[in-house]
Formats: sequence, structure tokens, C-alpha cells
Amino acid sequence: MTKVPFVDFQLQHQPIQAQLQQAIQAVVQQGDFILGKAVAEFEAAFARACGVEYGIGVASGTGAIALGLQACGIGATDEVILPANTFVATLIGVIQSGATPILVDCDPNTALIDLEAARQAITGKTKAIVTVHLYGQMVSPSELLALADAHDLLIFEDAAQAHLAQREGYVAGSIGKAAAFSFYPSKNLGAFGNGGIVLTKDATVTEKLRSLRNYGAPKKYLHTYVGTNSRLDSIQAAVLNVKLPYLAQWNQSRNSAARQYDTLLEPLQSQGIFPLENQSNIGHIYHLYVIRVSAACPLDRQTIQEQLAALGIQTGIHYPIPCHLQPAYQYLGYQTGDFPNAETLSQEILSLPMYPGLSQAQISYVVDSLRRIGVRY
Ligand SMILES: *Cc1c(COP(=O)(O)O)cnc(C)c1O
Repeated sequence: MTKVPFVDFQLQHQPIQAQLQQAIQAVVQQGDFILGKAVAEFEAAFARACGVEYGIGVASGTGAIALGLQACGIGATDEVILPANTFVATLIGVIQSGATPILVDCDPNTALIDLEAARQAITGKTKAIVTVHLYGQMVSPSELLALADAHDLLIFEDAAQAHLAQREGYVAGSIGKAAAFSFYPSKNLGAFGNGGIVLTKDATVTEKLRSLRNYGAPKKYLHTYVGTNSRLDSIQAAVLNVKLPYLAQWNQSRNSAARQYDTLLEPLQSQGIFPLENQSNIGHIYHLYVIRVSAACPLDRQTIQEQLAALGIQTGIHYPIPCHLQPAYQYLGYQTGDFPNAETLSQEILSLPMYPGLSQAQISYVVDSLRRIGVRY
């Protein structure tokens, strides 16, 4: 029996069920299913929440990356730097923009992009750096901005795991030229299906995006760009409008759950188990709570995962195979050994249950279970 699920949607949706149903019903009554009133409302509200001028709703986070880069003028002949340990959708987005992806390694303590590795990967063709706010934490915005300024690079944020994350006073999505968010149901702000948004301060990028997502048409039946069909549905936007006001408190709940994990897990460090580093305090919104089962641990990760499952605790691995070792991307020419930190992390990371409302008792049960299966302290 599941005692601690990996995520719990019921817990999140039950208290706001009536509001959600009402909002969906309103879209059905208005009949404006595509780019309707709810979409415009959500675009404005989410952009405002992140302190950015414009929001352009799209069909997914992947679409937001691909179209966002294109709208920023990135395309064929350009190189785009991104971390090798990201979710594969970041890479797909870069490839779909037409640019050449250049993978770089990550910092082993945070799993965020290694900015020194990024600096070394810059060539005359490098146009942009895609920073991924992995697991809900940003790499230092001041260091990222300094690197981008020094080499005249555009910053594009993959903020799919970082809705309202903060660091050094910057809110995720407000650092770069543009940023992509996903509203896949399990993200910190999740729809009842697929959805995404691009945020930008640039009116020209906004205009182009509004065309690109809608068959490349700035107005009906005039097609200025090749474009595609990638729009946020009104029903999804209606759901997101209801949920957005709760996002900050949900993020806070995740952060305090993480603090409890940190405290209870502390004694396990001597057994080779430790969480990834939080360099952002309350600005880390813990899309995932990730520990490392290092080589020093007497038990291997798979055993730990199986034994936890037997005790009713669901865990995950995000992600077990880094992008450069995925079969589809062998053509990029990377090999095992190219990104040692990403490779080691892929063998050691384990995501523990994490969602708003995860109780103190559940967190204790997870950590106690680790001890029961033989990770002693
Ligand atoms: C979820 C995710 C995406 C893709 O979003 P979709 O909405 O599933 O297309 C991209 N990048 C990261 C880091 C993600 O976690």
C-alpha cells in the first residue's frame, strides 16, 4: 500500500474543487476554447506575478522553449549552450528552434549548469545560453548575467521547474531575454493537461511569438512566418487562473518540507547520503527534493529505491540517463566521459516524495524507513 506517494494531486485540488469546476464551466458557456478570455487573463496574471511585461501562452513547455528561442531570433547557424543533465525537453526545444545544441556539464553539488564549463564552450557561433532552473533552483543570476554580458550572449531560461523561484532578488523568468514555463500537471503550477508559457520583456519578441504559436499569422489568413499550432487552451488557462493565487503558499510548503528533510537526513551524511545543495534559501521552490546516494553509501541506489517502495514510499530518478547518452542524440557526437558530473549524478540521484502538504509524519516515515533498510546512523 502506498503510504507516501511521490505527488498528491487530490490534496491540492480538493479544497478548490468548486472554484475549478466553476472556471471550467465558464469557458464551456463562453465557448471561446482557443485563445479566449481566460488565456489573456492568465497570460497577464502570470507575467505580473513574475515581474515580467508579457506572457504568451503556448501548448507545452517544450513548445515554449522552441518557439521562445525562435522568437528571440535564434535559429540555424547559431549555437546554443545548455546543461547535459536537464530533462530531454530542453534539448528538444533547442533542436526544434533550428539551432545547434552545445551541451555542458553541471555543478556536482547543485546539479545546476557549470558556468565555467559554459564559458569554455563559447565559440564565435554561440548566440544563447539556456539555463535550466533544475529542481526549482536558479544558478546565481549575477554570475550568469556577468557571463552573458562578457560574451554578448542571450540568456534564455528554462523555468519549467521554477514557477516563482527566486535568487539574489531575481524571480525566475525575469533574468533573461525570455523564459519558458511548463504547466504539465506535476509541475509546481500544473494544469489539467498540457500547457506552457513564454515570458519576455520584449514587445517585438511578444509579437513574433503570438504569430508563431498561431500558424505564423499576425492576423487571420496572413502568414508572415512558417509558424505552428502551439496554443494554451482556454480550459487549461481557466484552471491555472484558479490555482495561481495559491502558488506562493504551495511553494512555501515545499520549502519547509525540504527543511525538515534536510534536518532529519543530516545524520545520514556519514553514510554517504546527502541532499543536493540549496544555495537559494527560501527561493528554492523544490519542484523535486533530490538526494545523492554516493559511492560511500553501503547500499546502492536501486536497493534503496526498491526497499522504500516495499515500505509504501514512491521515489523517482530525474534523470537516469543524461541527454548526451540518449540513443536519439548520438548524432551530436558526445560520448561517455564527456560530462563526468552529469554522469555521476545520473547514477546517484534519488528524488524523494515532495508536494505541498506533505506532512511532518510522512517525512519522518521516509527518513526512518531509510534507516530501517540499513542506512544506519
Ligand atoms: C517539464 C519540463 C519541460 C517540458 O515541459 P512540457 O510541458 O512537458 O513540454 C522542459 N524542461 C524542463 C526542465 C522540464 O522539467
